[in-house]
Order: sequence, then structure tokens, then C-alpha cells
Amino acid sequence: MKQVSYEGLTFEPYITRETIDARVKELGKDIMRDCAGKSPLFVCVLNGAFPFASDLFRACEGLEDAEIAFIRLKSYEGTGSTGVVKQMLGLTDDIQGRTVIVVEDIVDTGNTIARLVADLQAKNPAEVKIATLLFKPEALVQDVRPDYVGFSIPKKFIIGFGLDLNGKARNLNDIYILKED
Ligand code: IMP
Ligand code: MG
Repeated sequence: MKQVSYEGLTFEPYITRETIDARVKELGKDIMRDCAGKSPLFVCVLNGAFPFASDLFRACEGLEDAEIAFIRLKSYEGTGSTGVVKQMLGLTDDIQGRTVIVVEDIVDTGNTIARLVADLQAKNPAEVKIATLLFKPEALVQDVRPDYVGFSIPKKFIIGFGLDLNGKARNLNDIYILKED
């Protein structure tokens, strides 16, 4: 794998598609075990989580009553969090009494997920779980703990597999990390 460049920034290979695939299958097994007999609603947080949600949802094919819905949130400008979470597209599904699994690409400060979990809790679900492909524990400022974590990573900026730099690079199959010199 080669380095890639976006907006004059250089990124180097960090997590391969094969490694992601293997880890997502493990998370799927964990979720299937924990949700046996339930009918969970996976809530994919657009835009970034769509490749992960697509793979994770299908890694849970043993959950025959599982469903998926999509919401859209945004809190980033460039390579830093704005701290302001804007809800772009709301959830229309009735989640009362249901197990909800929020599917995120990355939990960074935790502002996005904390706001979303609070909004979901207000609709009286049975439980809200968080599945995130990536987690930056050092960046966390909110009191939230993801239940299912693909990879814990340092507080560095990454792109690929859904993660973007100003809308670009989401279509990279592997994950790349910003090169610092
Ligand atoms: P938080 O609200 O700070 O936890 O940020 C969550 C959102 O910020 C994620 O859903 C991503 O869209 C974005 N984000 C956080 N870290 C990165 C990164 O390293 N690369 C690309 N997007 C990121
Ligand atoms: Mg996101």
C-alpha cells in the first residue's frame, strides 16, 4: 500500500482492509451473542459509518429480527472537532422498548455520541449500545463508553473506510493515518 495525499496532507497506511474485515466479524459475533432473542435496531450514523455499518450489519446475519436505520450528524470541520454537533437528519423509527445499537465510524471527543445517546434515551428504548469501528480514548471528554470497539487508536487524524477529510477519502478501502514529520 502506498501513501495517499489530500489537500496537501500526506497519509500513510495504518489498518488494512483484511484486518478490518476480521475485526468486524468478531464484533458481529459479540453482538449476536449479546442480542440473542432480541430484535435490535442498528442505527448507522451517516456519513462516516456507512461502510462499517454495512459490514457489521451483515456480520450479524444470525440475528433474524435485526433492522437498520440511518441518521445524519456532523461535528467536524477539516481535521478538528468543532465541538458543536449538528443533527442533520433525524430518526423516524419507533424505538420504544427496543435494543438500539448506534453504529459510529469513530468516537473521538465523544460529543457526537453523547448527544445522540441522550436523544435516543428520551425515546424510551430498552437499551442503547454503542458500536464504533475506531475509538480515541485519549480524546474522550464525555462520560460515554463504547460497548463494541473495533480498534482503539491514538489521538491522530485518520481517513478511509468511511472516514473523511472534508468529504474526501471515504472510498479508501484501508485506513490511513496523517503523517507527521
Ligand atoms: P466526536 O464528536 O469528537 O467524538 O467526533 C465524532 C465524529 O468526528 C466522527 O463521527 C467523525 O465523523 C469525526 N472524526 C473524529 N475523528 C476523526 C478522524 O480522525 N478522521 C475523520 N473524522 C473524524
Ligand atoms: Mg461520523
